Amino acid sequence: MSEKEIPYKIYLEESEMPKQWYNVRADMKNKPAPLLNPATLKPMTAEELGHVFCDELVQQELDDTDPYIDIPREILDFYRMYRPSPLTRAYCLEKKLQTPAKIYYKFEGNNTSGSHKLNSAIAQAYYAKKQGLKGVTTETGAGQWGTALSMACSYFDLDCKVYMVKVSYEQKPFRREVMRTYGASVTPSPSNQTNIGRKILEEFPGTTGSLGCAISEAVEVATNTEGYRYVLGSVLNQVLLHQSVIGLETKIALDKYGIKPDIIIGCAGGGSNLGGLISPFMGEKLRGEADYHFIAVEPASCPSLTRGKFVYDFCDTGKVCPLSKMYTLGSGFIPSANHAGGLRYHGMNNVLSQLYHDGLMEARAVEQTEVFKAAEQFARVEGILPAPESSHAIKVAIDEALKCKETGEEKTIVFGLTGTGYFDMVAYEKFHDGLMTDYIPTDDDLKAGLAGIPKFPGNEID
Ligand SMILES: *Cc1c(COP(=O)(O)O)cnc(C)c1O
Repeated sequence: MSEKEIPYKIYLEESEMPKQWYNVRADMKNKPAPLLNPATLKPMTAEELGHVFCDELVQQELDDTDPYIDIPREILDFYRMYRPSPLTRAYCLEKKLQTPAKIYYKFEGNNTSGSHKLNSAIAQAYYAKKQGLKGVTTETGAGQWGTALSMACSYFDLDCKVYMVKVSYEQKPFRREVMRTYGASVTPSPSNQTNIGRKILEEFPGTTGSLGCAISEAVEVATNTEGYRYVLGSVLNQVLLHQSVIGLETKIALDKYGIKPDIIIGCAGGGSNLGGLISPFMGEKLRGEADYHFIAVEPASCPSLTRGKFVYDFCDTGKVCPLSKMYTLGSGFIPSANHAGGLRYHGMNNVLSQLYHDGLMEARAVEQTEVFKAAEQFARVEGILPAPESSHAIKVAIDEALKCKETGEEKTIVFGLTGTGYFDMVAYEKFHDGLMTDYIPTDDDLKAGLAGIPKFPGNEID
């Protein structure tokens, strides 16, 4: 296929869109370690998980064997409103960089919530509705997940209670109001509505909150309120499963033109977009059918893969959620005020953690001023104003493209552009005014968080 024949945007016909999600666990030899009940240290049963999560989502969470899971008709119908998302050849960026590399990005910002999170939000809302629930609770950091979930809940006429990390609640009134437009109730966390919130406020009166704390509040409310369950926008395997739609569409689009990527890059907060993007490609690698170089990009201020430990840890500050074996900085780790709110999570999805541990994926930590430089460079040539989170992937894509410029290699690079940054203009402002800093935690800073990792036989940190 000659260069010219590859369009700027590769779209799929409706008939070409994936009808099933792909579950990469089915192809993993080393399965992710099971979630443990923190009280008994035994694997969580479906029944135990069912108190917190919707029944079908529990099945998906525990399913390590079925490679394909049908996407229900109602979810496919909703996907059709904003999917397929375009896979764009970054011709303009390539030209600007004068690189022989071929760069593609899968853009997930083409919906009102502005990110990939809607792909899982709609699935989770659907299963909650199907189970006859009244509503769901959740946490949100920067607000992308809460926005996506409130859209999904209003579509299925479910009540939606969002606990929003206090600093974002105060600094990001716009997202808060989008959520309220879709009918969600939004509470700053920590709040005095919950036991855990009150306890944290007592211990740390001036705290601006954290994702882990907001999770604990949302879980507490879900388990204490009849007809409610908790839903989560990342970290869990059910979320990775739903996000596989990103990777499946990408693969179908590339296959149409016979394009085989060399490098696949995604930003990594809890791991859902990265996991979703790479899943079908990782499946091929695991089955020995193809080889790809995967790169997870995380902020240097919250370096769970590159500097965390691979152990069982709590998913939340309040220690009410199951233990997950993952790369973690400790559930008490509170990152510095990095502007990529969606990447400020202390742990990493356990599938990605296992794949990384097994050497199947690389991880890189990048500093935020470099990330914003890349964001601006990208915005100026490709037109899209990227989210700070997404810009982590842009940064590494540009780095890799510049390496190709040196070596003359014509590598094909694919990266996930997870969303738009219109609600992050305060961060852009700081960057433009030269007020953005690059705080990188010292080993001593990390020690405090790591010290909170639960200790039991087999879970020692070296
Ligand atoms: C939430 C978010 C992320 C990070 O979440 P993952 O679960 O790691 O994918 C990345 N980009 C955007 C735009 C987000 O909203």
